[in-house]
Amino acid sequence: MHSCHPFLSCRDFIDVRIGKLIGIGAVKAVYHAKWKEYDVALSVLNNPAFEDDFFTGAENIRIFQHNPLTVQAVGFCDDEKMFLTEFHKNGDASKLMETLKEHPEVNDNSLLRINLCYVYALILVSLHHPGHFTIGNPHLLPRVMCDSNDLKKLLSQFLVTNDFSLILNDMDAIPLVKNGGIKCGHKELKGDFVAPEQLWKLPGNFSDMKQPGYDEKTDIWKAPSVCNYFLGNVSDGNEIKKKLASIHKRCKALVPKDRPTAGDLAEVYMVIKATLNNSTTNK
Ligand code: ADP
Ligand code: MG
Ligand code: MG
Repeated sequence: MHSCHPFLSCRDFIDVRIGKLIGIGAVKAVYHAKWKEYDVALSVLNNPAFEDDFFTGAENIRIFQHNPLTVQAVGFCDDEKMFLTEFHKNGDASKLMETLKEHPEVNDNSLLRINLCYVYALILVSLHHPGHFTIGNPHLLPRVMCDSNDLKKLLSQFLVTNDFSLILNDMDAIPLVKNGGIKCGHKELKGDFVAPEQLWKLPGNFSDMKQPGYDEKTDIWKAPSVCNYFLGNVSDGNEIKKKLASIHKRCKALVPKDRPTAGDLAEVYMVIKATLNNSTTNK
């Protein structure tokens, strides 16, 4: 985390001292731990039924190490079904509003809030348009952020860095869009947070076999909810939301192809960032 070091392997895990449980999801139990004097997060398989997801997640963390917008890996011990990542004391983004309230010096900062929307869009760019964002990306097909059936769930897959930016952490369910479509799980999805094409619309009872696949545009459908959460009730928030109304409306197009790309979103967020930057420097 401060200098280059090869990934730790099973024999180094002897020097890991386990601390408090900091998070628990369907797949992993995550503990604050120390390796030597370094703070780390120890992820342990929490449910044997999800072993495949656990290893897929660990492998994706490895694959995405060249990407600065993803969590930094520290070590892997596949035999013990454990891995280590950099510890982030601000936790995941589902608690961001509470975390920001504890930091009044940055809480009411609209530049910081729109930056979160921007970084979120950049993370989507790196998932949807591999090779566009970073050099040497091994996958060429877009990926979908699948573990995102409600806002809280989606946000819990991202961590908040010390400077209140965002990184992608949980990569268990980011399938590649092959043959034009994927499905997020095998169960019927309900509610208005998921994209309309993820809902069962055919006559009769839900059938996983008959449910048509979909693509990365489901993430775009959800992006306005994520950005509006980040903006919260910050001063200037309504002003910013007005500027975003047009692109956020396009994200809700019923036909997935009519929605903007993650790059389009990033561009709009960047322009607003630049305007806010100028107005603060001109004050
Ligand atoms: P699951 O795959 O079971 O959902 P996650 O990888 O999402 O597990 O981790 C569960 C929770 O643990 C996260 O939502 C977050 O609150 C916490 N967590 C995970 N990794 C870290 C970390 N490196 N630093 C701080 N908190 C973490
Ligand atoms: Mg998770
Ligand atoms: Mg997970």
